[in-house]
Amino acid sequence: MQTIEILMAVFSFVLGAVLASFLNVCIYRIPKGISVAKGRSVCPACGCEIRAYDNIPLLSFVLLRGKCRDCNSPISKRYPIVEAIGGACFLLAWLRFGLDWQTPVMWAFACVLIPVAFIDLDTQEIPDRFHIILLAIGALSLFLTDGPTISQRLVGAAVISVPMLVIALFTGGFGMGDVKLMAASGFLLGWQGTLFAGFLGCVLAAAIAGILIALKKKTRKDKIAFGPYLAIALFAAGLYAQPIINAYLSLFSLA
Ligand SMILES: [Zn+2]
Repeated sequence: MQTIEILMAVFSFVLGAVLASFLNVCIYRIPKGISVAKGRSVCPACGCEIRAYDNIPLLSFVLLRGKCRDCNSPISKRYPIVEAIGGACFLLAWLRFGLDWQTPVMWAFACVLIPVAFIDLDTQEIPDRFHIILLAIGALSLFLTDGPTISQRLVGAAVISVPMLVIALFTGGFGMGDVKLMAASGFLLGWQGTLFAGFLGCVLAAAIAGILIALKKKTRKDKIAFGPYLAIALFAAGLYAQPIINAYLSLFSLA
């Protein structure tokens, strides 16, 4: 790797971690109905404002040994975890697409999917504003990339969301937030990526639920949030669906 490539990879990770630090604020505040723009972050235990130099993504958590500087209460491990996920998503997008418009599109996608996954995990709901942002990213990427055509995107918006809607209406197996997430993301990814994400999301959810039930951490009757699995599957589809589908199709053309 050339020096410039290493620098860009480091820059991608740092940018992702810094933005994820703001996503932490969104994950904490949006379900409580608090503005994400106003007011500095405070320690939830003692209410002291968090100083700028204690707010460095990942690094501050390590330097403070996971404790508030003022009251010594433990800081949730979720903060550095979300920051690391943000950094990793941005790095993966850069490594996959490099100097291409797809990279910032995938970065924006990650900035929606990360709060969607954690808010759904916490509240079993996905606020509508995230679906609107996804549609806006999809509309913008129409001009920016040579990705899916408009008709492929419209099919993408329906291909998983409509069957999910039917299941949601008859069995309540999915929430409406999941349906809207797959519709809006389908418009961003096109139908091939969306089908890939739908299947991968189901496989992931079934596998993890199976493991949790086997470990007796959950029972069959527990409701599981589907959003986190869909979010992982959607991001993976945005990165890798095309090369995997192409490889799969080429198997048949060779046969
Ligand atoms: Zn404190």
